Amino acid sequence: MIRLNEHYLKLNSSYLFSEIAKRVNAFQKQNPSKEIIRLGIGDVTNALPKACIEAFHKAVDDMANDATFKGYGPEQGYEFLREKIARFDFQARNADIEADEIFVSDGAKCDTGNFQELFSNDLSIAVPDPVYPVYVDTNVMAGRTGSFENGRYSGLYYLECTEDNDFIPSLPSQKVDLIYLCFPNNPTGAVATRSQLKQWVDYARKEKALILFDAAYEAFIYDLSLPHSIYEIEGARECAVEFRSYSKTAGFTGTRCAYTVVPKSCMIYDSQGNQHSLHSLWNRRHCTKFNGVSYPVQRAAEAIYSEEGASQVREIIDQYMTNASMIRKTMTEKGYSCTGGENSPYIWINGKIDSWMFFDKLLSEAGVVCTPGAGFGRCGEGYIRISAFNKKENVEKALVRIGEALTA
Ligand SMILES: *Cc1c(COP(=O)(O)O)cnc(C)c1O
Repeated sequence: MIRLNEHYLKLNSSYLFSEIAKRVNAFQKQNPSKEIIRLGIGDVTNALPKACIEAFHKAVDDMANDATFKGYGPEQGYEFLREKIARFDFQARNADIEADEIFVSDGAKCDTGNFQELFSNDLSIAVPDPVYPVYVDTNVMAGRTGSFENGRYSGLYYLECTEDNDFIPSLPSQKVDLIYLCFPNNPTGAVATRSQLKQWVDYARKEKALILFDAAYEAFIYDLSLPHSIYEIEGARECAVEFRSYSKTAGFTGTRCAYTVVPKSCMIYDSQGNQHSLHSLWNRRHCTKFNGVSYPVQRAAEAIYSEEGASQVREIIDQYMTNASMIRKTMTEKGYSCTGGENSPYIWINGKIDSWMFFDKLLSEAGVVCTPGAGFGRCGEGYIRISAFNKKENVEKALVRIGEALTA
């Protein structure tokens, strides 16, 4: 008899996006002529930068000739891409990372979800609340938690992110072995400073813990004093893995390319206390279960490091960030306290009422879709997330309607 991994039965059926869709469809049915504007999505709306498209096309042509055709590439990614990543994303910021510490992949969702395979099942794990659900659900599937009750899994340590700590979690009061952090944060938009990150790095080194650092939104950081990479913090090479993605940076959500950094100085311990190289283990896992990102996609990703590519990426991000600042301005003027939207594409708004009530109000009175904060964890209750990923005209129109709805 084929039997089930019963840990899957513990999963809180993620009703967030299906519930949003259900309410939006019901509203549209009752108001067929009303144009709905979606500011709930975590997906980009602008086309790929021109430089990426040109490189992509050229690489497709390479596949058409025996002389330039590529079959299986290196599982870890082509040298041409890994070298540019190391140079432009890390060494240029004084972060000591080499090309052979980069693992190119088809997404940061898979990487943040898969990485836990390397760990023992009796770890104590710290996750933020509110949280990007992938970190939690993949540990549930692996059997590292108890059941889901009152909005939380037993056996996880929740790092509460609230207005009191400016949505930057403080160190845990009990010992933890594995720590998930995400800055700039989805959903709160908060970004940790150097000294805040330093506290986590110092903690991890002292406890021989590991930080899994999701930097999928680093390209949205404008404040020059904020770190883009955890490796800008002294000591992080010994205790942190970093996840990056071209999805939000350069519009690759439908094209798929990302990478994970595993420094060679990161160690992991067996039950006897002997140390092993985390890099070797991840390399073993990656080569066994993954066969590389397609050659044309890696050429397209490489193009963002060219001069034109970089300036086209900047232009697209500037457009989204203009939206973000308009959203923040309107909501602040209406008397709501906001985080994010200055160094991240998400604005996290204290709605002062139940998240779903605020969601329904914006939908029914303004025809605007946001994301209820309660869907990201218990600490998200009372908040909504508005995304800056849309066309400027749509955001402007949405903000006029929101302004009217919140005045009435
Ligand atoms: C969008 C997003 C990612 C990127 O996922 P991809 O699989 O690379 O598209 C990673 N982490 C967070 C928090 C995100 O919001």
